[in-house]
Amino acid sequence: MASQSLYRKWRSQTFGELVGQEHVVQTLRNAIVEGRVAHAYLFTGPRGVGKTSVARLLAKAVNCLADDSTLRPCGHCALCQEIAEGACDDVLEIDAASNTSVEDARTIISGVMTRPSHGRFRVYIVDEVHMLSTAAFNALLKTLEEPPAHVIFVLATTEVHKVPATILSRCQRFTFTRHGVASTAAHLRRIAEAEGLALDEGVPEAIARAATGSMRDALGVLEQLASFTSGSISLQQVHSLLGMTAAAEVHALIEALFAGDPAAALRAVNGVAEQGADLRQFTRDLVERLRAVLLLLASGDDALADSGDDERQLLEGWAQRADTARLLHWVKLFSGLDHQLRTTPYGHLPLELAVVEALVSPVAHAEAPTRTPDVPPAPARRPAAQPRPAPPPPAAPPAPRVAAPAPATTPAREGTAAPSAAAPAPATTPTREETATAPPAPAAHTPRSPEAAAAANADFSLLELVEARWEEIKRDVRPRSPTVQALLHSVRPIDVEGNTVVLLAASPFHRENLEKAQNRKIVEEVLQRHLGVAVALRCTIEARAEVRDLRGQIREARKDELVRAAMNIFEAHIVDIEPPE
Ligand SMILES: [Zn+2]
Repeated sequence: MASQSLYRKWRSQTFGELVGQEHVVQTLRNAIVEGRVAHAYLFTGPRGVGKTSVARLLAKAVNCLADDSTLRPCGHCALCQEIAEGACDDVLEIDAASNTSVEDARTIISGVMTRPSHGRFRVYIVDEVHMLSTAAFNALLKTLEEPPAHVIFVLATTEVHKVPATILSRCQRFTFTRHGVASTAAHLRRIAEAEGLALDEGVPEAIARAATGSMRDALGVLEQLASFTSGSISLQQVHSLLGMTAAAEVHALIEALFAGDPAAALRAVNGVAEQGADLRQFTRDLVERLRAVLLLLASGDDALADSGDDERQLLEGWAQRADTARLLHWVKLFSGLDHQLRTTPYGHLPLELAVVEALVSPVAHAEAPTRTPDVPPAPARRPAAQPRPAPPPPAAPPAPRVAAPAPATTPAREGTAAPSAAAPAPATTPTREETATAPPAPAAHTPRSPEAAAAANADFSLLELVEARWEEIKRDVRPRSPTVQALLHSVRPIDVEGNTVVLLAASPFHRENLEKAQNRKIVEEVLQRHLGVAVALRCTIEARAEVRDLRGQIREARKDELVRAAMNIFEAHIVDIEPPE
């Protein structure tokens, strides 16, 4: 490979060769054809997305000798070539990052009055213009106020908020966007082919993802890989160069999250940690995929999800099984880990905790306590996503029949979508009106009592929520009363009956003290804050024997991993338990 950097070597010589930024290119082409090129442009956007490449194309286009203006820049004429080689006096590139003094600005400006030596325009390309000093900006401003007809300024910046408003107002502004994974990958493939490099499947996409939208970075990575491999680049080489984790591990974790399988999710995390892979990068890769699924789900537009060809199908499959509230929760949860993972002395613990939280949090699991007393369960909201035919649990506890609740996107669900200790979720009252209009489910099987089943499911949903938040609830009681908090250390939630939370106390002493009016009130208020519904408290000192009625069976069935997964995926609850055949 030539020593010349790939980015420079493959810099577009014509607008047609340019990858991305179509909106900018189209406007500039029109301006050139119509002969109304502005005297000052401001190109803003992240680094490596083609701002200076487009600035050079513009400089060539306004000076190009091609007769047909639609073909400018032609890339072949004397001027196009001179400019491409950096040998043209009329095109001046200034890096403001290294030329910040007012003297430098004056030097530029003094040249402005000079006529172009052989082109039609003198073009000043000022990169990182936000780095100029105030004095330099003022000098530049004077020129921008009355630019000579033969001068064009192209100012480029990654930090437009640092450019004074007086400069902004005198420029025609273009915003450059990051390159998508698919278009970056396609460009990498073209270049690799021309350079005689063989890229294994997934390599262009992996590089594109790591480059996060910067074509310059993507080509830099490709060049480094090419320099230490012999013409063929494998996915593993990409991963080891970039400290990336294999997509397979990220996929395994996402699968486990969607399956509601904490064991598999923790195995995936531990696998990555054991390899000594960069956990922050792994987490970023995870967040990026979850974000893609979220965008896909929210917009239904796969272009937005910016996926490479290699992942599109997977993302679409996940989107079919996902619900927005849960995904939103996951993206927030995992994207907040970066700093923790950098500073923690506990290795991958923050990631493990987040995985557990993702799977046990109210958003992930507990349904809002919505009763559907009179209404048979409605079909699942997303009937297209059929469950994988899950085998019934082996040692036959009776097979639970799982059905979706009425499509009650009640205030309660939205309330739990953004759990916050400070803001109580809107209280929910089970309403018959909301569910009464639900279409009846196909009557394949007549449950013993839909009313009892719905009540049991609501109770246990609430119980699971109390259990999941028990530590937080105890913590929130402390500021109100350390004594009550101490009492709570000796009790645990064992049941919910309607709107009553039942706590099992270690002794009559604990029960009596907790049931004192002022103490109950504290606990009930904290419970309400966490549950979003008003609840009463009852203490008992006897654990009730597991009943073998429908209620007891539902309670047991809800502990089964497969049942949990099915309930999560279909936002369903158990309507009946059929005896094993
Ligand atoms: Zn030309």
